[in-house]
Amino acid sequence: MSTSYAPPVQRLVTELSKLPGIGNRTAQRLAFHIMRASPEDAVALAEAIREVKERIGLCEICFNLTDEQRCRICQDPRRDHGLICVVEEPSDVIPMERTHEYHGVYHVLGGALSPIDGIDPEDLKIAELLARVSGAEGEVREVVLATNPTTTGEATALHIAAGLRARTPAVAVTRLASGLPVGSDLEYADEVTLGKAFAGRRAL
Ligand SMILES: [Zn+2]
Repeated sequence: MSTSYAPPVQRLVTELSKLPGIGNRTAQRLAFHIMRASPEDAVALAEAIREVKERIGLCEICFNLTDEQRCRICQDPRRDHGLICVVEEPSDVIPMERTHEYHGVYHVLGGALSPIDGIDPEDLKIAELLARVSGAEGEVREVVLATNPTTTGEATALHIAAGLRARTPAVAVTRLASGLPVGSDLEYADEVTLGKAFAGRRAL
């Protein structure tokens, strides 16, 4: 990395290069773009970052991102609160919503089980899911496990299915149908494929 930049420029490049998919060269390009931008535009970017960190938290029910105590989906009485779709990340909610096939609610785990990386059940919102399903006293009919079709996503789905079967045997547990590219992220699935995977979900 070049050290000929003034320290504030170097700092901006360093921070930008921490973003996913942004290498040092791209970080430099973005930094120069920001330096060329009007003060208003540059400050608006900084403000947007600050505001999102200050105002966005996790929904107290489903752990999706929200600027309120409960997210808009959990607050919506038209959604089917008896159907819970379990996903790994908040970004996975967006492709499911785009399918327009799904009218239930969500539960965001905050990742997938990966013992090698030190991610254990207690690092995810799994206990919260089990408590949510058993606490709803018969209101929840089905839990759809929509973790990614990866090794960690599959392991997470099996772990949760076992927990649900033990605690709430009356609740149906389903998994998205295959057809999603194996090893890929839900986030990158197109809505037609994802909609079909949802419609063809099967019991676990
Ligand atoms: Zn919510």
